[in-house]
Amino acid sequence: MDAKLIAELRAELGPEVVLTDPATLGTRSHDYWAVSHLRRFRAPEGETGGALPGCVARPRDLAEVQAVVRFAAARGVGLMPFGLGSGVCAGVLGDPATILLDMGAMDRVVSVDPVNLLATFEAGCNGLAAEEAVAAHGLTIGHWPQSIAISSVGGWVSTRASGQFSTAYGNIEDIIHSIEAVLPDGEVVTLGKAPRAAAGPDLRHLLMGAEGTMGVITRVTLSLRRQPETRAFTAFYAETMEQGFEAQRRIIQADWRPPVMRQYDAPEVFRLFSAHARGEACLLIMVHEGPAGRVAAELAAVKAIAAEAGLTEADPAATEGWLAHRNKVPEWTDLFKLGVIADTIEVSGSWSQIGPIYRRVMAALREVPGIVNASAHSSHVYRSGINIYCTFACRPEDAAAMEARYLECWDRALEATAAEGGGIAHHHGAGRLRKAYLHHDLGAGGIALLRQVKAALDPKEIMNPGNLLP
Ligand SMILES: Cc1cc2nc3c(=O)[nH]c(=O)nc-3n(C[C@H](O)[C@H](O)[C@H](O)COP(=O)(O)OP(=O)(O)OC[C@H]3O[C@@H](n4cnc5c(N)ncnc54)[C@H](O)[C@@H]3O)c2cc1C
Repeated sequence: MDAKLIAELRAELGPEVVLTDPATLGTRSHDYWAVSHLRRFRAPEGETGGALPGCVARPRDLAEVQAVVRFAAARGVGLMPFGLGSGVCAGVLGDPATILLDMGAMDRVVSVDPVNLLATFEAGCNGLAAEEAVAAHGLTIGHWPQSIAISSVGGWVSTRASGQFSTAYGNIEDIIHSIEAVLPDGEVVTLGKAPRAAAGPDLRHLLMGAEGTMGVITRVTLSLRRQPETRAFTAFYAETMEQGFEAQRRIIQADWRPPVMRQYDAPEVFRLFSAHARGEACLLIMVHEGPAGRVAAELAAVKAIAAEAGLTEADPAATEGWLAHRNKVPEWTDLFKLGVIADTIEVSGSWSQIGPIYRRVMAALREVPGIVNASAHSSHVYRSGINIYCTFACRPEDAAAMEARYLECWDRALEATAAEGGGIAHHHGAGRLRKAYLHHDLGAGGIALLRQVKAALDPKEIMNPGNLLP
């Protein structure tokens, strides 16, 4: 980005808002995408391993966001929104021609309304801080992504995130009441007003999952719940993933709603629940929450359905242990030092498709040279189907091949999912990593429509150029 342009932006907004120091540029040049971290890890001493943004703008209020957007629109400069950088699909990637719009200074809890169960947050508000603010009123957002402590409310909306308790409480699209956003021409819209509306198409969805390509989310109002009266745990062994999926199908279709339903294949049981491993058995764990009477009824019903489906009871301590340690993840660099590159790929399918998807993706991953792990668990359940969350780890003989093998794992897993008719992106978004596969979910007509929407909203293509749209 031209130094003169940066100087102009700084003159307009002030030196505290427009930053160019190497440390800030470095930490805002990528998200949590494994390859960005690998490139950084392998870079020579003192180098970043990737391009940096032209500058970082860190607005403090709506007016400053509008000023940055108008500045970018007037000059045709790219603008890349940044929440807290926990995205895993390269939705943020350093580009010297763009302004990185860091929403981190807009992090206030604006209001909590315990009567109407609504809370409003600035988009940069840390997810855990948002949950803690409502918890002080005996309430919960009910949205618990594993990254809750390192992601922002605006990021949740932008990536169509899912929380670990989604089976009962819904994904982020079920929790959003309204969204305030600055459009690519600098105008402000507030989308969503009443508890439900039939006032034309639901325009909130233009921003949900747009990954920074349609505008800048500045405020979000979320719909809350009261904290549950009781919580209980169950766990079951299934002989195969298919047997466990069938039990989950029967539970959810009988209208029971354990907020957490997670089913691990044998390699993941050994890795994550070693004390509870039993031969080659898979493990289904469930958390039950709500009014005491309903939880008691759900426990009895779930145990009966699981037994009918051929599952056997496991120690519920497995589920309690998961709850206590669920947000611990290894650092990328610990794996890189061992020559290993790993990642998770979340896909989904109907109940009829999910068994074949699981088998085919595992087989496809195991063909990649250097693969040392291919495993999966399910974690989000619907009446019509379920997701699976695949984990791969690859240790190529030649460390220089780590990035190529990583991309091969992604390609094989997504093509295998699509070949079985599944959805190629359950909740991490598409970013730059998955955009070439988006046609599997949207079709050629859907891609063309998405392009038309983008062209109408952002004719100068300033918003997160190169992201999401194939
Ligand atoms: C360890 C770990 C665990 C994770 N677990 C989960 C999980 O359980 N569930 C889940 O859904 N995801 C999970 N993720 C992925 C990630 O946390 C989510 O995608 C999260 O919603 C991203 O939020 P963020 O604030 O970090 O966004 P960022 O990474 O900063 O940005 C993500 C995308 O949104 C855009 N964006 C961000 N803020 C705005 C805004 N205000 N306006 C417009 N566009 C914006 C960016 O341009 C980018 O394209 C996990 C990630 C990690 C590293």
